[in-house]
Amino acid sequence: MLAALLYGKEDLRLEQVADPTPAAGEVVIRVKAATTCGTDLKVWRRGGHAKMLKPPTPFGHEAAGEIVALGAGVEGWHLGDRVVANNSAPCMTCFFCRKREYSLCQNLLFNNGTFAEYLKIPAAIVQHNLLPIPDDLPYDLASMTEPLACVLHGAARSHVKPGDRVVILGDGAIGLMFVAALSSGRGDWIAPSPLTPHPAPFSEVFLFGGNASRLQVGEKLGAVKTFNYKQVEDVPALVKDLTDGWGADVVIEATGVPSVWEMAIACARPGATVNLFGGCPRDTTITVNTDQLHYSELTLKGVFHNTPQYVRAALNLLASRAVPFELLLSGEQSLSNLEQVFEDMRDRKVIKVAIVPE
Ligand SMILES: [Zn+2]
Ligand SMILES: [Zn+2]
Repeated sequence: MLAALLYGKEDLRLEQVADPTPAAGEVVIRVKAATTCGTDLKVWRRGGHAKMLKPPTPFGHEAAGEIVALGAGVEGWHLGDRVVANNSAPCMTCFFCRKREYSLCQNLLFNNGTFAEYLKIPAAIVQHNLLPIPDDLPYDLASMTEPLACVLHGAARSHVKPGDRVVILGDGAIGLMFVAALSSGRGDWIAPSPLTPHPAPFSEVFLFGGNASRLQVGEKLGAVKTFNYKQVEDVPALVKDLTDGWGADVVIEATGVPSVWEMAIACARPGATVNLFGGCPRDTTITVNTDQLHYSELTLKGVFHNTPQYVRAALNLLASRAVPFELLLSGEQSLSNLEQVFEDMRDRKVIKVAIVPE
């Protein structure tokens, strides 16, 4: 089959490799759509990922497709089933899994290689994070289940209450998904359960980013106001102006830049929750004012990845078509154009692109 392999910094090559065959408990899917992601862009620019990828390596982690082979002992699935597979699954047996803190699982096995004609799904993912796609949901939208699951996990842990004023820093796909999740008329998908309706809008979202067309998408997804940070002299001061002098009830950082983490904390009101969601380069640090943290009773949270509960919630939200997530897709491209797609992502010409192998 044809597959993209990452050899190093901005060095992607399309190669013929052996078709995958499923071992016991595994399935193989024919990839129908594999969406590109900001994490892929980081990995492409850095030439690898300390935890997840050592080159040369199969590449890409968001995909939806059709089952074409079943390993021994796989039950409940059939050839031709339309499915979406999360890129990981918790082991369900380690210290953290037993505490139901699945995103901290010590045995999370990341499945990469979605930019290929076929993708093998490991047994743990088949068991816990392989889901059927509803008939009327297109593959390219279903492929966004994984990043949306991360966002719903992050949104649920940000202590957002109906009517809160939320500041989101970052207009990448993740920041924009946060806008959609938090400003769409219902908070259902982030409330644990039972599902309770909230007055619309769920919260008032102010989005800060650096790209005019992405900020427009943010408005369509429900942001009350958007700002190009390059035209704002003092972001925390502007946030205070927008919030009767207090600062935001909740701040979500979605850029992965240490100085923006510090800016996020500076935008918070006393008692706020600051969700430091964007992963920063290794070994970076930030400075926090101890007075502000203590006397203003701030909650600073790191939230990582997703859990099976939010993978399901994300697919349900995509399938509901209540939010126009297609606004995040900048079209479809073939595998042979993958390198160009990453160059366009680097230059911020596209948000997410659905790679369609054939
Ligand atoms: Zn992703
Ligand atoms: Zn575990």
